[in-house]
Amino acid sequence: MSRRREPSTIKCSECGASDAIQIEITLPDQTDVTFNSCHRCEHRWWKSGAEVLDLTTLLEKARRR
Ligand SMILES: [Zn+2]
Repeated sequence: MSRRREPSTIKCSECGASDAIQIEITLPDQTDVTFNSCHRCEHRWWKSGAEVLDLTTLLEKARRR
């Protein structure tokens, strides 16, 4: 059974808008992360569980070796 991966909405940590988009993505190393994007203030951030990922960490994980 495959998981459904429809975008859901979350609250933006920057401007407080409640309609920021959250998309779940599995990286090549099988880490599940969420990409979050607010269209009001254009804040974008990545999370792995409760942990906020910085872009450097994310790119490390996404790089195929
Ligand atoms: Zn925002």
